[in-house]
Amino acid sequence: MSAKKIDGKAFAATVRKKVAAHVVRIVEEHDITPGLAVVLVGEDPASQVYVRSKGKQTTEVGMKSFEHKLAADTAEADLLALIDRLNNDAQVHGILVQLPLPSHLNENLVINSISPAKDVDGFHISNVGLLGTGQKSMVPCTPLGCLMMLRDHHESISGMNAVIVGRSNIVGKPMAQLLLGDSCTVTIAHSRTKNLPEVVRRADIVVAAVGRPEMILGDWIKEGATVIDVGINRIAAPEKGEGKTRLVGDIHYESVAAVAGAVTPVPGGVGPMTIACLLANTLTACCRIHGLAEPKGLTA
Ligand code: NDP
Repeated sequence: MSAKKIDGKAFAATVRKKVAAHVVRIVEEHDITPGLAVVLVGEDPASQVYVRSKGKQTTEVGMKSFEHKLAADTAEADLLALIDRLNNDAQVHGILVQLPLPSHLNENLVINSISPAKDVDGFHISNVGLLGTGQKSMVPCTPLGCLMMLRDHHESISGMNAVIVGRSNIVGKPMAQLLLGDSCTVTIAHSRTKNLPEVVRRADIVVAAVGRPEMILGDWIKEGATVIDVGINRIAAPEKGEGKTRLVGDIHYESVAAVAGAVTPVPGGVGPMTIACLLANTLTACCRIHGLAEPKGLTA
């Protein structure tokens, strides 16, 4: 069997198109333009790339983008003061603090200082609690993107066995809540899981969020399963020349694609969907803040 490649890049483009169309409507009908503020502390090169890309895509869908770049040694009180200003800024509907933060800053304190209504990353403890109890919340972007791709690929995922490898707060745990919400039978595996290949082999849906290059192999996969690869790992690529690198996921693509029914590639799978979902969340937050109808198909 040769798996269908789930094209996250193309799907993300359709999500952005939907977002842009809804933005046009609320600008015209209500004179409201959704705004996203991104806060970057320090000069981590990968974070700088993400922030630039987020800003560009935000303006491309017709939203306002506000970038706040702070020095790596910014005092916690100054960062909290900025978040407080953004919480009270009527032009800002979404606030994202780029993680990781420098080690002198308390990540939980910072995240929980964001107004839950503007928490477009869905990491605030209130949103985590709402999601965990099946209530309307802001949903973390990466798992939301995975869910959208699964819903698009399957008529229904109700009753399917889903195995998530990874139990982080930003991917594994919210992914489990979302899949439970869609009535999957959910297993969360992690570094202490016994007989991991056997556990994964039971899955109709596998979500790999481990951070270990090409760890999940084809012979761990049940024939016909849908495999979502969240991992983004940069590895050496001597075949491309000295010092060159390439991106790979947490699954061994070739061997998995030979067995699975469908699989997301890296790059071009979950990554583009994550930013598209950030834009969708900003629009959703704006609609909720102003009591407007929410866009359909862009939330959990
Ligand atoms: P974390 O490092 O926070 O979590 C990794 C998880 O994998 C942990 O729960 C860990 O278990 C588990 N794990 C590690 N080694 C093994 C192993 N050998 N067997 C089984 N489980 C293992 O990572 P994140 O969740 O933040 O990210 C995961 C991956 O997804 C990374 O590659 C990251 O770059 C990528 N990512 C991609 C995004 C995108 O937009 N596409 C967004 C966010 C992340 P334990 O808890 O026991 O230590």
